[in-house]
Amino acid sequence: MNNGVSQEAPDPMSQSIHYYQVNDLARISSPACEGCGECCRGMGDTIVLDPYDAYQLAIGLNKPFAGLMNKEIALHSENSLLLPHIAMQGSHNACSFLSEDCRCGIHSFRPGICRLYPLSRKYTDEGIRYFIPADVCAGHSLIKKKIRSYLDIRDYHAYESYKCDWFRFLKDAEDAAISTADSSLRTKTALFVLETFFFRPYACGDFYALVEKRIKRARRFLGLL
Ligand code: SF4
Ligand code: SF4
Repeated sequence: MNNGVSQEAPDPMSQSIHYYQVNDLARISSPACEGCGECCRGMGDTIVLDPYDAYQLAIGLNKPFAGLMNKEIALHSENSLLLPHIAMQGSHNACSFLSEDCRCGIHSFRPGICRLYPLSRKYTDEGIRYFIPADVCAGHSLIKKKIRSYLDIRDYHAYESYKCDWFRFLKDAEDAAISTADSSLRTKTALFVLETFFFRPYACGDFYALVEKRIKRARRFLGLL
């Protein structure tokens, strides 16, 4: 089980890091961004997608999420589960959605991790807290902006509740997969999570209600109650 505090990115100096709430102002906005595209290159498998990202990509690109596999999206193994990430391609090792003029081709429905940049986040019992990692782009000066408007996520409260729920489910599923000695059960768990939350389409409507039901069903199926 999640013990209440966990993070999405390395936080080696947690003692000295300042944590923000979503309504706080933080120095994150970059009017002087040079648009060099460096933050969209060489990211390896770090732009990990969640079910909301998969849902948004399927709608925005008007194709099933599974249809993006092996081109725009790739899979990696993480704590015994299989999770999708944005694939890097070509001689520039660039994001599949980065255009030749270094623009994001999916800006309005880009993944949560991209939307967050240069912030990172931490999950706590009180909800999501934000912080600025030490290694963000220093090529331009950042100015203050309210985190909520910077993220520009519709219905933030529903999103935050879903993100915390998903984070806890993933952690429990990972712990269960890691702790079993049965390798075929581990594989089945990984494929079940991938199919249930990423490959099975979400009907149009209230994504948050749909995914909440899936998380509850998956917890029952995997014995994670
Ligand atoms: S944020 Fe920094 S690295 Fe990214 S495009 Fe702008 S200047 Fe380049
Ligand atoms: S999805 Fe857009 S913002 Fe994210 S890495 Fe790709 S081009 Fe950059």
